[in-house]
Amino acid sequence: MNRIYVDDVLCTRCGRVYEASRGCPSSGIPAGTAWEAVPAHWRCPDCGARKSSFESLELIYQRARCVLSGF
Ligand SMILES: [Zn+2]
Repeated sequence: MNRIYVDDVLCTRCGRVYEASRGCPSSGIPAGTAWEAVPAHWRCPDCGARKSSFESLELIYQRARCVLSGF
């Protein structure tokens, strides 16, 4: 399984994943742009959600592990 990077974030509205290593060239974000460096006015290209609607995949996986392990 690939390592989950903190920079990978999930749009909680539409499920799109932003990967820092890929960026989002179609919306003006070059590959390699860390999530923190993505401009605050950037919106999800699929559903228009704000940056605040995105959640770190690492946190989501940590929560999922807690649920699965019963803690
Ligand atoms: Zn979205």
